[in-house]
Amino acid sequence: MTQAIARLEGRDGVSRDSDGVPSSDGVGRSKDASAKPFNAFTIDVEEHFQVSAFEATVPRSDWEELASRVENNVSRLLDLLARHETKATFFTLGWVAERHPDMIRRIVNEGHELASHGYSHVRVNTQSAEAFREDVRKTKAILEDISGVRVLGYRAASFSIGPSTPWALPILREEGHRYSSSTVPIAHDLYGDPSGHRFAYKPFADDDFLEVPVTTLRLFGRNLPCGGGGFFRLLPYTYFRWGYGKTGRESGQPCIFYLHPWEVDPEQPRIADAAMKSRIRHYTNLGRTFNRLESLLRDFHWTSMARAFL
Ligand SMILES: [Zn+2]
Repeated sequence: MTQAIARLEGRDGVSRDSDGVPSSDGVGRSKDASAKPFNAFTIDVEEHFQVSAFEATVPRSDWEELASRVENNVSRLLDLLARHETKATFFTLGWVAERHPDMIRRIVNEGHELASHGYSHVRVNTQSAEAFREDVRKTKAILEDISGVRVLGYRAASFSIGPSTPWALPILREEGHRYSSSTVPIAHDLYGDPSGHRFAYKPFADDDFLEVPVTTLRLFGRNLPCGGGGFFRLLPYTYFRWGYGKTGRESGQPCIFYLHPWEVDPEQPRIADAAMKSRIRHYTNLGRTFNRLESLLRDFHWTSMARAFL
């Protein structure tokens, strides 16, 4: 692993920042007054059957038998980002990276940030501190070995870091991560802590480590979802355009958007036994995501988490 990290001068000869992002790709870190501010575009790289909503229906022991669609979907997203000259952060499962090393190398070679989404999508609030540390360490090593770049970011499966896991952020820091984007301050049946921070903050007084919550819209005294995922398909695009504009103006902070590769894949096989609520969330408007992403990439400036925050 150490050997791999030392190869920050990538195989393609492009000089990279410490986060593995090429330093002369034209995106830059400029935030001068004439430029639109940058927001952070993030993708949680997992298969269509690895989401938390299907945990009870598709056991991990079945994963190996199911047809993979992630590489093809990531490829479409990489092409889309290239057309819009936009860099993003790919929070990737270790399980997926092991099976698709060429996809990992393409993500890095095209100037995007590679980050960790844990090994096999186990929610942090269902793990012991020891099991979490093991998972974080193992995934970081897998991603760094394959890519040859340092992995600085982490996103918990289903934003599952919160008040019940006070040990999680200290462990991420100790294992060499520099930021996490694992919380969202809304009330949701699978995740969220409505009393949590809305914007990036430093959890440790003696360290620059950041926790960067996914974006919410503050309206009528409540935090409403405005981070992407299923809501990006279920709600009209104009809600997001208005929400990001308002939140960015009022806070002066980058907004954080996220989606999954399977959300641009209307042809994915349906998981028949899943609960009706999960099926509605997972399958509604899949055919519309791609065009909405085109609008989102046109209407705002986006970059990786590392470039927006570190
Ligand atoms: Zn996920």
